Amino acid sequence: MPSRKFADGEVVMGRWPGSVLYYEVQVTSYDDVAHLYTVKYKDGTELALKESDIRSQSSFKHRKSQSSSSSPSRRSSSRSRSRSRSPGRPAKGRRRSASQSREHKDDKKKAIQETSLALVVLVLFKPSENNTKRYNGEPESTEKNDTSCIILEQKLKPDLEVKRVLEQYSLRSRKDDKKTEEIFSEKKTFVAVKPIEKVSSKTKELEFGGRIGTFMLVFLLPATVFYLLLMCKQDDPSLLNIPPLPALDSLWEWRVFGVFLLWFFLQAVFYLLPIGKVVEGLPLSNGRKLQYRINGFYAFILTAAAIGVLLYFQFELHYLYDHFMQFAVSAAAFSLALSIYLYVRSLKAPEEELAPGGNSGYFIYDFFTGHELNPRIGSFDLKYFCELRPGLIGWVVINLAMLLAEMKIHDLSMPSLSMTLVNSFQLLYVVDALWNEEAILTTMDITHDGFGFMLAFGDLVWVPFVYSLQAFYLVGHPTAITWPVAAAITVLNCIGYYIFRSANSQKNNFRRNPADPKLANLKFIPTATGKGLLVTGWWGFVRHPNYLGDIIMALAWSLPCGFNHILPYFYVIYFICLLVHREARDEHHCKQKYGLAWERYCQRVPYRIFPYVY
Ligand code: NDP
Repeated sequence: MPSRKFADGEVVMGRWPGSVLYYEVQVTSYDDVAHLYTVKYKDGTELALKESDIRSQSSFKHRKSQSSSSSPSRRSSSRSRSRSRSPGRPAKGRRRSASQSREHKDDKKKAIQETSLALVVLVLFKPSENNTKRYNGEPESTEKNDTSCIILEQKLKPDLEVKRVLEQYSLRSRKDDKKTEEIFSEKKTFVAVKPIEKVSSKTKELEFGGRIGTFMLVFLLPATVFYLLLMCKQDDPSLLNIPPLPALDSLWEWRVFGVFLLWFFLQAVFYLLPIGKVVEGLPLSNGRKLQYRINGFYAFILTAAAIGVLLYFQFELHYLYDHFMQFAVSAAAFSLALSIYLYVRSLKAPEEELAPGGNSGYFIYDFFTGHELNPRIGSFDLKYFCELRPGLIGWVVINLAMLLAEMKIHDLSMPSLSMTLVNSFQLLYVVDALWNEEAILTTMDITHDGFGFMLAFGDLVWVPFVYSLQAFYLVGHPTAITWPVAAAITVLNCIGYYIFRSANSQKNNFRRNPADPKLANLKFIPTATGKGLLVTGWWGFVRHPNYLGDIIMALAWSLPCGFNHILPYFYVIYFICLLVHREARDEHHCKQKYGLAWERYCQRVPYRIFPYVY
């Protein structure tokens, strides 16, 4: 086994992931299992780097004459250009004449060249404090989201262009020309191997209360589901009216378990159908990109058709209501078995395929959070499948079963207004998630969390059985609401949905194509990773506007249940806790990713979810 090349505390040049930029970093530790160095950038960002992405400072020494002639002036030129592209600039540009426009193009070209040069200078020379700040995440000003800024933000130009600049100014590292070739040929592969997270190594910071917390959650989560369902079945579901424990043998029925398995495997068959496009996920730590078939919406349509056929043949869907608890127990047993299988198979998974957040080495923690990032059987991605299919589609089927049960039990020719609202709102939410299925590929669940008990139980039990609590409640506790109240609740849901959808779309579109003309009015803070952080639009309103919209919708789902009991409000209370915790986790990751740029963003946008409150 080769020994490490760089010592702890040594100041070296570390490559910024996904770019050819090298910054001064300090080695803080070395993981001799994963062969990764943890390095700290000047802005406080910590990353794990391979030895091949680290160079000694001496290899970046330059020729004196070139240093003085090119670096300072070029650098300032680049920076002033950068500043000049702040707000207001494009409006002027639109008024330009043809010749001015040509001039502008030339200008732009020059700007690109100078920017590249400045960056190359910055890359190959030891950066001064100011420059480090400018390019390592602390902008002097925000950038207007026009194409030229994107070029500035992206920092990288086609290899040949940068190479030409390098040759012209002889700014290569001293080693030899081959090194430069290496950097640029590596760039292509490196862009491909850009890690989405800290390259897999041991998880040091434990979340969810660490080992004790996760141990308790393994029992607490199922207990909560069963307690809620038992409460909801009672005539008086008040908090103080503790439900009696049911007989154990009443909780299990093989037929119900069989129906659950049938449901799960039917969804698996739909998932395997060769319909819908195939897209690539974000690059993994080893550079590979997994492929995902986007056909959740088709699966939903097929499921709707299957349910339609069942109803046509008089299948009594309220069977689900009658055996609701047994279905929940079946789903919980299945998710537990799945989690055990996932943990056992993860023990054989290569280190690089383990989840950044679930590789602590502690059994219970890794079992709970998920040890393996993307467990697959062939091309069947277990986590991706469970995230949106059996549980989410199952949720709307359960809601429909509750609606039919309500009509049957209360002998109604039409479902109640409250039940109609709850079903419609939640149907909209699920259809939206399936329609935008691709967006899930960039979420924390896919990129950071492994597949373990937390997600298996969450996807297969918590979502379908807890999220349908309002519909379940309404069957046993009819609540009459007037049309004006229904209209007001509908408006609230629409407001929530509008914020949720437009915030998510704004960010997704910006991430997919920052040069999108539709986003031209938005401002962003550039960061050292090449990605910008939006500071206007929804993401300038609060730091997680999508969570705000989601919470408003959650409230609208509970309101049709009236105010007699707090039980139907469990969802909105729990959801606020979940999103506040999730927001804190995301902030932590973003701070690690973006360093000072993130702090700057937090200064610009001080509220996390609720404006002027939190
Ligand atoms: P988000 O969609 O909120 O994404 C967070 C990421 O967005 C950050 O990690 C960062 O990633 C990027 N980002 C943050 N700030 C900015 C900015 N200013 N400009 C541009 N990009 C920024 O993550 P979630 O996965 O938590 O949520 C997705 C949706 O799912 C939300 O609408 C949420 O409400 C919903 N949800 C629903 C749940 C439910 O049970 N119903 C549970 C959890 C979530 P990067 O910079 O790397 O792109």
